[in-house]
Amino acid sequence: MISKRAQSIAPSATLQINAQAKELASKGFDIISFAAGEPDFDTPENIKNAARKAIDDGFTKYTATSGTLELKQAICDKFRQDNGLSYDPKNILVGNGAKQCLYNIFQTILDPDDEVIVPVPYWVSYEEMVKLAGGECVFVNLTNKSSDRTFSGHPERFSGHSEQSEESQRKFTPNNFLLSPDDLKRVLTPKTKALIINSPSNPTGAVYDLPRLEAIAKICVDNNVMVISDEIYEKLIYEGQNHSIAAIDDDIKKLAVTVSGVSKSYAMTGWRIGYCAGDESVIAAMSKLQDHQTSNPCSIAQKAALEALSGDQSTVEAMRKEFQKRRDLMGELLNGIDGINFEKPAGAFYAFVDFFKIIRNRFSNSADFCRKLLEHAHVACIPGSAFGLENYIRLSFATGEDDIREGIKRIKQFVTD
Ligand code: PMP
Ligand code: GLU
Repeated sequence: MISKRAQSIAPSATLQINAQAKELASKGFDIISFAAGEPDFDTPENIKNAARKAIDDGFTKYTATSGTLELKQAICDKFRQDNGLSYDPKNILVGNGAKQCLYNIFQTILDPDDEVIVPVPYWVSYEEMVKLAGGECVFVNLTNKSSDRTFSGHPERFSGHSEQSEESQRKFTPNNFLLSPDDLKRVLTPKTKALIINSPSNPTGAVYDLPRLEAIAKICVDNNVMVISDEIYEKLIYEGQNHSIAAIDDDIKKLAVTVSGVSKSYAMTGWRIGYCAGDESVIAAMSKLQDHQTSNPCSIAQKAALEALSGDQSTVEAMRKEFQKRRDLMGELLNGIDGINFEKPAGAFYAFVDFFKIIRNRFSNSADFCRKLLEHAHVACIPGSAFGLENYIRLSFATGEDDIREGIKRIKQFVTD
């Protein structure tokens, strides 16, 4: 009964492991979860009140598919203030989460065999989204140490490991998890349609600096390559700042679609509001697709998102500071475990930790490690293979300090036993 297309996709490891951890906890197991890709904070009260008011006011009907004009205007204001980007409401589409925006972008821009460059490690859903749109992922490994590592997923389509020249390494912020202009040039082909940039990155937390983005933008413009810039973690940055590639100049702006949303910054994962901005023709085509797919995102959630973007912003900074404290605590505790390597993430709420030495000796791969860790130590983490990179483990620090202390203690015990 199942189509080849549906059979070809893998389940979302992040959602699956999260669900498994929640199920075990509901059965009474004492589970510490570092699997969550969502803030543990409640949605701020002013945002909840806006939703209550929307219900009381009867704002419960269909809206325009692409979102209400007032929300699209607030998104334009946000892009102008935060990102230095000037857009009109006709350049904006509101979706059921950034996830739907991303899904619809690939459905809208890809023809069969078009290639999309995906820096590895990458967020779980990009690969399947590109595949479902008939495109081909061209994976670029961002680690220089890949002789020791294998790629999960589709090694036959993996384009080789990064060999950044010393010169390019000196020119840009040193970080193993950022695409270099050399990497990009190496994998471009006449079939390249788009490049995905995710900054701050899930799973690595790496944040792109402006000189690097400028060099990448120039290559994309010269080769007429679109850029899908996923900036969903833009407000959760601890070092550096967010730069939108689309803001560099008008040429790259024409080729870029910038994606963001309220899930992570405002603790609103369940409300399902994301948005994107791009060239009018792309946004109109995406909106047409969404007409036949879901119509508008929830009218009540749109009112809540309006309040999130245009109301009191102090809760965002309070949450960011709390995440930073937790990041530092997790980093400090992880440094006490022998055999792992850990680069402090500059943004998002994930530590992407190199467990190569431990996994090589005692486990078949990162999924095996995570399965046994959950089974024996009751700690849930996401294996690097979910993000296309073996031997790493993703630990979310969107969880309380006590859990971080207890969870890392259990991991330390598990790997030293
Ligand atoms: N992009 C990245 C990198 C993410 O981590 C997520 C989290 N699920 C999303 C997009 C989608 O977010 P949402 O659909 O909740 O807006
Ligand atoms: N983006 C989050 C994560 O990576 C939430 C789960 C998902 O949508 O994949 O864990």
